[in-house]
Amino acid sequence: MPVLVMKFGGTSVANIDRIRRAAKRVGLEVAKGYDVIVIVSAMSGKTNELVGWVNEISPLHDAREYDAVVSAGENVTAGLMALTLQEMDIPARSWQGWQVPLKTNSAHSAARIESIPTDNINGRFAQGMRVAVVAGFQGISPEGRITTLGRGGSDTTAVAFAAAFDAERCDIYTDVDGVYTTDPRITSKARKLDKIAFEEMLELASLGAKVLQTRSVELAMRYNVKLRVLSSFEEPSDEAGTLVCAEEEIMESKVVSGIAYSRDEAKMTLISVADRPGIAAAIFGPLSEAGVNVDMIIQNIAEEGRTDMTFSCPTDQVLRAEKALREAKERGDINYHDLVADTNVAKVSAVGIGMRSQSGVAAKMFKTLSDEGINIKVIATSEIKISVLIDRKYMELAVQALHDAFELDKAA
Ligand code: ADP
Ligand code: ASP
Ligand code: MG
Repeated sequence: MPVLVMKFGGTSVANIDRIRRAAKRVGLEVAKGYDVIVIVSAMSGKTNELVGWVNEISPLHDAREYDAVVSAGENVTAGLMALTLQEMDIPARSWQGWQVPLKTNSAHSAARIESIPTDNINGRFAQGMRVAVVAGFQGISPEGRITTLGRGGSDTTAVAFAAAFDAERCDIYTDVDGVYTTDPRITSKARKLDKIAFEEMLELASLGAKVLQTRSVELAMRYNVKLRVLSSFEEPSDEAGTLVCAEEEIMESKVVSGIAYSRDEAKMTLISVADRPGIAAAIFGPLSEAGVNVDMIIQNIAEEGRTDMTFSCPTDQVLRAEKALREAKERGDINYHDLVADTNVAKVSAVGIGMRSQSGVAAKMFKTLSDEGINIKVIATSEIKISVLIDRKYMELAVQALHDAFELDKAA
């Protein structure tokens, strides 16, 4: 029988009523003749609570124990979903990551999937089971320890299962009815897109649009998974949601197709470092070893052989970054006067494939922000995006102003 993957995010399984509602959707697909693999997230708020407890006990925690704790939320929903389906007389069974087993590398808290054997679950399908409920977000390392795939990782579990089982489609059920031109929570003018290209979705996700985890889009693109984002609160329909697909399948094309933001950015500045060959390697090597995801970097013009180096990273990695740099200084590998962390910044980005062939987007973006009196602290560009770091208090204003300036409320 054809296989369908259905993933339910935290708000879609937030309580027993919602689990029942999600299970009903699964029942509809089973009735159409699909064998269904359901991927569940933790009930909304649960993972945050678990992360909070870990950080309270140990701010610079052992990532193996972090994973042992934060993976737990999904175990509960997987079991509850299987029970709900059984109550509906649908043969269902739950699997935790290690039982599949979903094998990952050892990069705890941000592990990458290495393989998903299908024999175990397929064997059960062959015996008449109709739904395999799998706990999202978690896997098992070569050392036999539980790993997690990074925040939002259930999306990636879902796409990886769709690829491994050659599923007809991967449906991501969430609390919005598709991918919008920007987060609909920030502006009511945000417009739902019927289709979005993999490349654009990849940029939006990596720049903060958490509707899909970046890795999930990467996998869907690589394995050509038919990926759809839709709401678990709306009536079922074949046209619902947003299809994430190849660029060629899209007619509508605007220069800028979406605005993304990331609230949890920090800007760190090393004041007065020696400007010599190898200094960047001496700074960013230890940061990378400490697992700090450095994003934007600027090096100022040197004066009398010394310069300031600024970079951005997620706010929750500031402690790690400070420790790594302090240790590098103590070893004598780098020398700086001061290290200043600004945790009140946010990143706002404009994304669009059309930027490849059209100039003037950066100028328009900078003018729009300047008209609103918003100061730009750092700029980064690539072929299809422009990002700026600004004071966090202006983040929503910036998103709204850019959405207006690029007329994203209007279809192309
Ligand atoms: P889930 O728990 O279902 O995985 P998430 O909270 O991870 O849901 O992702 C859905 C949220 O993503 C939405 O509620 C919305 O606020 C946010 N979001 C950010 N950018 C976008 C966008 N461009 N389109 C749709 N949703 C977006
Ligand atoms: N529960 C995990 C998180 O909140 C994984 C997910 O929901 O995708 O990050
Ligand atoms: Mg999510």
